[in-house]
Amino acid sequence: MKPPAFKYFAAESVEEAVSLLAQHGDEAKVIAGGQSLVPMLNFRLLSPSVIVDINAIPGLDQIEDCNGGLKIGALTRHFSLETSQAVRKRFPVISAAMIHVAHLAIRNRGTIGGSLSHADPAAELPTIAVLLDAKITVARSGGERVIDARGFFESALNSALEDDEIVTQVEFPALPARTGWGFHEFTRRSGDFGLAGVAATMTQSGKDAANVRIALLGVDETPIRAVEAESLLNGNEFSMDGVRAAVESVRESIEPNTDLHASADYRRHLVGILTERALTSAWRRASSLN
Ligand SMILES: Cc1cc2nc3c(=O)[nH]c(=O)nc-3n(C[C@H](O)[C@H](O)[C@H](O)COP(=O)(O)OP(=O)(O)OC[C@H]3O[C@@H](n4cnc5c(N)ncnc54)[C@H](O)[C@@H]3O)c2cc1C
Repeated sequence: MKPPAFKYFAAESVEEAVSLLAQHGDEAKVIAGGQSLVPMLNFRLLSPSVIVDINAIPGLDQIEDCNGGLKIGALTRHFSLETSQAVRKRFPVISAAMIHVAHLAIRNRGTIGGSLSHADPAAELPTIAVLLDAKITVARSGGERVIDARGFFESALNSALEDDEIVTQVEFPALPARTGWGFHEFTRRSGDFGLAGVAATMTQSGKDAANVRIALLGVDETPIRAVEAESLLNGNEFSMDGVRAAVESVRESIEPNTDLHASADYRRHLVGILTERALTSAWRRASSLN
């Protein structure tokens, strides 16, 4: 299948890219890795008359220190996130999640900015951004703004991005010392989008769990935080009774879809199991950091 005809511009700066977007409005689409956009063009699900390629913009593929956290440029490839020592050291949950994204060829091209902008509720990076309270910088002609990840995803394949804006950078704020993590996802075949997935981080404070975060993928229109389950565990002694209560709370709080791949009941069941695994992994890892 072939895409519809379009005019192609290779922007050489953020200013040039956003100026082209401002000029062409909703007729234009940005291309980064092309791993979601090109299939959508080929299937004629999108027919932009203008494509703005941002791959030649210098400086958008950097991973930099930021007060103990990381600033990651929008053009950073999935494979770089998977293999970067800085990411592995500060946010091992990101490296672990990347292994679940598609196949190596797709991870070589796909970018963090593209994945967040595409806003697929079953995608790993949007879920990780919500888990880690990432801050997403977006640029437009004459300025930029920063959007909290939890306010960025509006519905399936829809984000807070305006037509004339591009994502330029994603900041992941530092995690406290003694924070462990867990990432568990279920797919029928390796490389498929997950039927459901759960990411968690948790800080050990003596016998108590603190800063508990739980993010779910594939069970709603956007990635979501399981805030009630988090509050059941936060500030309390970590125990399997607490984990079981959190699992029940997660199962009750979601309303997954039934589709060709799985029923809502099956997804609810899976999410409970994956939540238990993610929470126990996070606690075990936090405990081993002493
Ligand atoms: C077979 C297959 C399996 C896949 N499996 C998975 C999976 O398991 N998990 C997963 O997470 N993903 C999966 N993907 C998607 C893949 O991760 C994509 O790379 C990613 O979703 C989009 O990144 P991209 O850089 O390729 O974006 P593109 O395809 O270039 O763009 C995607 C969308 O984002 C917009 N966009 C891109 N960059 C920017 C920017 N900086 N600012 C504003 N808008 C922008 C584009 O206009 C477009 O609307 C799969 C893809 C394929 C083809």
